[in-house]
Amino acid sequence: MNLILLGPPGSGKGTQARLIRDRHGLVLIATGDILREEIQKETPVGREVKEIIEAGLYPSDDIVLKIFEQRLRQEKAQGVILDGVPRTLNQAEKVDTMFEQLGIKLTMAIQLAVDEEELIKRLSSRRICKSCGAAYTIDLPSRVEEVCDVCSGSDFLRRSDDAPEAVKTRFEVYNEQTKPLIDYYSRTNRLRSIDGMKSVEKVNEQIEGLLRSSQ
Ligand SMILES: [Zn+2]
Repeated sequence: MNLILLGPPGSGKGTQARLIRDRHGLVLIATGDILREEIQKETPVGREVKEIIEAGLYPSDDIVLKIFEQRLRQEKAQGVILDGVPRTLNQAEKVDTMFEQLGIKLTMAIQLAVDEEELIKRLSSRRICKSCGAAYTIDLPSRVEEVCDVCSGSDFLRRSDDAPEAVKTRFEVYNEQTKPLIDYYSRTNRLRSIDGMKSVEKVNEQIEGLLRSSQ
């Protein structure tokens, strides 16, 4: 099984991607996480993208596709779930070509459909578990205050690209660049859409329903 998750910043994509990965034994390729790792390790790529990402912008397709292809070649045997890539129409076409060359078949692209205003509110309150990356917000807090549901960690951080100005910028860029993707996968009959404004559990149930019906 090979999946793509689509949705704007803060739609809970990352959290859902981890749940699907764990449940179905897929490899998660999250380009945002990979890039943040590169920044932390101060690699050449990391130094190149640091300012761009912290301003809420996205690195060029070339950089994203390069790091993506590296991971994909290492991980393809197990089935993959993609979070953060493709994010532009150009990337989507290139990903299709890579899949074809590597003999990977896309099972479906899943869109988390959201209410944008509501989401901007959520995002400004988002915090990430330092050890496992699980995300929590005012609407969707951890079950026990200050304790991560997934790993019981108690260290949380706010991503610098969740600052209000950066959030706005990311939405503008998203609307301009990522919406054509929805059309692209819809046209080619590979898009499935679900209500992304529900709780983590409810969204996950919808996704599992889709996956069952595809088998
Ligand atoms: Zn955690």
